[in-house]
Amino acid sequence: MALAGTGVFSEIIDGEVYRYYADGEWRSSASGKSVAIVNPTTRQTQYRVQACTQEEVNKVMEAAKVAQKAWARTPLWKRAELLHKAAAILKEHKAPIAECLVKEIAKPAKDAVTEVVRSGDLVSYTAEEGVRILGEGKLLVSDSFPGNERNKYCLSSKIPLGVVLAIPPFNYPVNLAVSKIGPALIAGNALVLKPPTQVYDSFGIFNSFTECEGLISCVTGKGSEIGDFLTMHPGVNCISFTGGDTGIAISKKAGMVPLQMELGGKDACIVLEDADLDLVAANIVKGAFSYSGQRCTAVKVVLIMESVADAVVQKVNAKLAKLKVGPPEDNSDITPVVTESSANFIEGLVMDAKEKGATFCQEYRREGNLIWPLLLDHVRPDMRIAWEEPFGPVLPVIRINSAEEGIHHCNASNFGLQGCIFTRDINKAILISDAMETGTVQINYAPARGPDHFPFQGLKDSGIGSQGITNSINMMTKVKSTVINLPSPSYTMG
Ligand code: NAP
Repeated sequence: MALAGTGVFSEIIDGEVYRYYADGEWRSSASGKSVAIVNPTTRQTQYRVQACTQEEVNKVMEAAKVAQKAWARTPLWKRAELLHKAAAILKEHKAPIAECLVKEIAKPAKDAVTEVVRSGDLVSYTAEEGVRILGEGKLLVSDSFPGNERNKYCLSSKIPLGVVLAIPPFNYPVNLAVSKIGPALIAGNALVLKPPTQVYDSFGIFNSFTECEGLISCVTGKGSEIGDFLTMHPGVNCISFTGGDTGIAISKKAGMVPLQMELGGKDACIVLEDADLDLVAANIVKGAFSYSGQRCTAVKVVLIMESVADAVVQKVNAKLAKLKVGPPEDNSDITPVVTESSANFIEGLVMDAKEKGATFCQEYRREGNLIWPLLLDHVRPDMRIAWEEPFGPVLPVIRINSAEEGIHHCNASNFGLQGCIFTRDINKAILISDAMETGTVQINYAPARGPDHFPFQGLKDSGIGSQGITNSINMMTKVKSTVINLPSPSYTMG
């Protein structure tokens, strides 16, 4: 029990079970039920979390609604001040929070610390950006529209939406939680968070926001059980979700509220003949295998010109041989994937590719949830791995004979998150970027989220709306206008 063990956030545990957070307090659910969380490395139950009841969710929503009204009246500079404090607390506690990430999701220790520090920076930046963009409004005068006199002044500014429901995924649980918490709070909203069940311990981060009593709550329970109740709750005024296909189902059921959906991807890496092949190999390995491929923006398919494919495959294989495979505590590069069912899913894709004749550049090896890095060459479009997101350390290579073929494969995907192109010809790169149906294209670099103030969005099944700090703040507000009607235009001041 990493955080509780440190004594830093000791009030968050009740015997064996983590409490949920509502109205400024850590509470035990009246359900008496809990959900077991299994450590991906040991495959033993690490701890348990409360299974909240629908009645408890209702109370949380009511409290959030009341708290939000007062918060919206709190001056912007004070909201920013609170976020700055929270950012500092987050960074101060980076070690125990990172320790939780190692145990809960087998995140390599150094990456876990990086995630917490980055999250603190994100919260600070959000405070600063919020003060800048929410402090601005607009003045319109009526005579700019045909047929009108100058007798109406329209003042508009941004106001909060109300209660934001935030649902982050397991893979960057701290960063993707604060990327919702920060914008929601600075904009004057209350926030109800449903954390990924696998990652609860690290939500001691709520103590970073303790001064916002009642304003943020954290309800726990399996998404499949309380998810619909939450996402269809009439008290919710906005949903910010990051995860997989679940988001598509949520968007079909949610009511008339703004949605921010950050979903899966099948990010393609297009490699042309004139590319710097060492740069390509380094980016493929980093892009596809960091955190064992469990990143929305991981390189998930390589589309490479036949003439340079052998050379790149050889360079990538040489690098893969050097990766350290093992437990996250040892700072291994490749660590166990998050659950046994994820490992089984990845294995299903690998076996399908094997049956259909893909070339295995390494021997397929798995121990429990730990899967050794694997490059599959000569993958063809009839193989599942050509299209599906493995979310694991397995990468398909499809050989192409033209850039158009690469673009065609990329655009035939139902996903459209990111993509990347490697070439020394910048004109060609820009033309290909324009043709790729993805939210972002990286030129000569692997797909990546961030820096966190850059716009970040997915097309097609990869999402709705755009994130990045500024876009998220804007998305969690609406425009309010007040029109000043002056006396009749015939009345003139001398
Ligand atoms: P997931 O299975 O879709 O779960 C995401 C969140 O949804 C979890 O908190 C989960 O809770 C919750 N949930 C499950 N069922 C729900 C329901 N019926 N209603 C409401 N919430 C529900 O995704 P994941 O496995 O955590 O994350 C991996 C996926 O996220 C990948 O597809 C990846 O590409 C995507 N991702 C996208 C981005 C992006 O920005 N585009 C960033 C990171 C990850 P439980 O844990 O309790 O089930």
